[in-house]
Amino acid sequence: MQVASRIAQMKESATLAVGARAAALKASGVDVVSFAMGEPDFDTPANIKAAAIRALESGMTKYAPTAGDKGAREAIAAKLRRENGIDCRMEDVTVTVGAKHAVYMALQAMIEPGRGDEFLLPTPAWVSYRPLIELAGGRCVEIPGATACGFRVSPEQVATAITPRTVGILLNSPSNPCGITYSPSALRAIVDVIAANPKVAILSDEIYEKLVFPECDAEAVHWSPGSDPRVADRTVTINGMSKAFAMTGWRIGYLCAPGAPSARGAFAKEIIKLQGQMTNSIPSFFLPAIVEALSERTAPAVETMRSAYAARGRAMHTLLGQIPGFRCVEPTGAFYVFPSIAALLGSRTKGGRAITSAQAFADALLEEAHVAVVPGEDFGECARTHIRLSFACSQEQIVKGVGRIAEFVEALEGAPTCAAPAVTSRQS
Ligand code: PMP
Ligand code: GLU
Repeated sequence: MQVASRIAQMKESATLAVGARAAALKASGVDVVSFAMGEPDFDTPANIKAAAIRALESGMTKYAPTAGDKGAREAIAAKLRRENGIDCRMEDVTVTVGAKHAVYMALQAMIEPGRGDEFLLPTPAWVSYRPLIELAGGRCVEIPGATACGFRVSPEQVATAITPRTVGILLNSPSNPCGITYSPSALRAIVDVIAANPKVAILSDEIYEKLVFPECDAEAVHWSPGSDPRVADRTVTINGMSKAFAMTGWRIGYLCAPGAPSARGAFAKEIIKLQGQMTNSIPSFFLPAIVEALSERTAPAVETMRSAYAARGRAMHTLLGQIPGFRCVEPTGAFYVFPSIAALLGSRTKGGRAITSAQAFADALLEEAHVAVVPGEDFGECARTHIRLSFACSQEQIVKGVGRIAEFVEALEGAPTCAAPAVTSRQS
């Protein structure tokens, strides 16, 4: 059977591939420490589970409206108004099958294939953005962030990257894979540039919004571009339940697109039309669980998880910083660190493997030391000599896994012997 070239040429998700490899090795009895998946190790809070169970038992087992029922959409719109300052109504919101589905649909709706549309992507960036931009028929234009700037791109870089073909920019703070946050003022400075370019839309993926660590950097405070009246009508905000509420397996995301006052809700309507042809609604008995998750009752559980991630991030950063050849920006959000291992390229492992790339490093580390990390290549051109480690796992796993990495690196032939200076991600 024929496979269309746009699918055949698409890369598989590197995060899911490494996660599956680590899980298979574990299932075969190997004691693997996995820093691969961006998936909370916490269970979903009990009150959220109870809401879904109640809904199921009460017979909420039929199709729901495509975009979700009134209760869930009202709760999301109220959350976005209250916490994010986004002027929206329930009609502007659709509940999606995970945030990934929301990113897919938004890009399908924003990019015209065959016209040379360009979509700007500050990198390092999550592995799925580029394939989804390209699948929609767009050209992905990377804007590289450097380790020395805490991976943040500057407004000048964004301004320079804009051409008459630019239709949008993807913003993701807190960032996967960098684990950094833009301060509200740094993000506003980028929005200033977009405000001056009326043809450029913003796709703001805020899935790690609640996982910010002001205890590590006082400026690590979340701000939503969709709250800025200058760009509110051309900003699509994406969020979901997977990360902050430890609900990855539930597959619940959402998208909000208020649109221009003269065409209020027009973009959201198009998205809902697409979703109606694609998936219809999420499972109906999950809808009351969204209302419960976004209620005050869940806030203490979210805070417990957030502060645990902050402590784990600090511990992982400190331990990795002691490994010769690792150069590591301190995380201020999400649950990732993204060290450079450039200094280790050209070395050789105890088992005789040549470390020629981040991919070679990650493969050898898994095979020889049984630690899973995601190699940087698919996070962008400037990320090629980095690896991603998720600290959504216990402190015990962090100590054990980073200990194994340290031993693995110490045994490399031809690697540096002194630790590189630590890099802070603080914003000045
Ligand atoms: N955006 C980012 C930046 C992510 O890291 C992820 C990973 N899960 C997603 C979107 C998608 O999340 P989900 O589909 O689980 O809601
Ligand atoms: N987003 C998570 C990660 O980056 C989960 C896997 C995925 O969907 O990419 O690990």
